[in-house]
Amino acid sequence: MMTEQINVQLAATQREKPDQTNLGFGRIFTDHMFMMDYTEGKGWHDPRIVPYQPITLAPSAMIFHYGQTVFEGMKAYLTEDKRVFLFRPEKNMERLNRSNNRLCIPQIDGEFAIEALKKLIEVDQEWIPTAEGTSLYIRPFIIATEPFLGVAPAKNYTFMIIMSPVGLYYKEGIAPVKILVENDFARTVKGGTGEAKTAGNYASSLKAQEIASEKEYSQVLWLDGVEKKYIEEVGSMNVFFKIDGEVVTPALNGSILHGVTRDSVIQLLKHWNIPVSERRLSMEEVAEAHRDGKLEEAFGTGTAAVISPIGEFFWEEEKMVLNNGKTGELSKKLYDTITGIQYGTIEDPFNWVIEVPIASSK
Ligand SMILES: *Cc1c(COP(=O)(O)O)cnc(C)c1O
Repeated sequence: MMTEQINVQLAATQREKPDQTNLGFGRIFTDHMFMMDYTEGKGWHDPRIVPYQPITLAPSAMIFHYGQTVFEGMKAYLTEDKRVFLFRPEKNMERLNRSNNRLCIPQIDGEFAIEALKKLIEVDQEWIPTAEGTSLYIRPFIIATEPFLGVAPAKNYTFMIIMSPVGLYYKEGIAPVKILVENDFARTVKGGTGEAKTAGNYASSLKAQEIASEKEYSQVLWLDGVEKKYIEEVGSMNVFFKIDGEVVTPALNGSILHGVTRDSVIQLLKHWNIPVSERRLSMEEVAEAHRDGKLEEAFGTGTAAVISPIGEFFWEEEKMVLNNGKTGELSKKLYDTITGIQYGTIEDPFNWVIEVPIASSK
């Protein structure tokens, strides 16, 4: 493991903490951030915690031109007895390195990154919101900083972690959403960057999302980019369907993101002896199941919402309402179980949570 000491420079003043009833998502940031740099020939160096502040880059920095960047999304949770939990953080660092590999960004030391994150959380511990269902959203990311307009992997990078206190995703309780099946645009294709958490995937998804929003759908269901037949993801979440007692999710085919929540849901279903399969699933099969009255539930999975039940699909000319537009039993049980494990209110049979050691403040 990388052994360089993390230099800590504390902010001179602490900003006022936000109103916890109105946190929203991703607009408020804590007092500090973590940074380290990469230089070709030297590797990653100068790990440091510094006050949250704007950074300076050359206008020619490669990130601005060719999008060589990756990110992660994870959360820290405060338990009732004031302990701080992370949920499977090693999976996020593993995935960050998988994204790095795809984007030709040098690997980071995942264990060191988790140590750095724990230290950053300790420094900003008072920013972890305490209200029910709130958490501290964590955004690690890497950008290519070399000032160069040539198209090639950069020789310099910066790795950063910023953190944002976020509100309860479902203010009025977990609620189903309406989904438009996307027939024109593609999020990615086989051989593309769909498996990586990289900025370009999200930039290219905005147009379809904008059109769906105008039609009052909350997200789009992405089909495969080649045949427009097989289901891939919903919005920026993985997707599951319960058909005639069996839970089906698209197999990881090279263009689907390896969700940590997806993996956790699969493990939980197996633990409960509920049939679950990862396989190719066409939109036609889902529509047929709906026509036969066998489409019991559908839901998206991701760190932000955990479980996002789907109440309605619109595909070509067909409107499919699921479970009378109400949250299904399984969706609710998965949501309650995963959030229960994350907040330490129920047993964690998989050792998914790790505790962040916090030296008691003052
Ligand atoms: C982050 C993300 C997910 C969900 O991954 P989690 O690890 O469960 O948060 C799914 N799909 C896409 C495209 C994503 O970016």
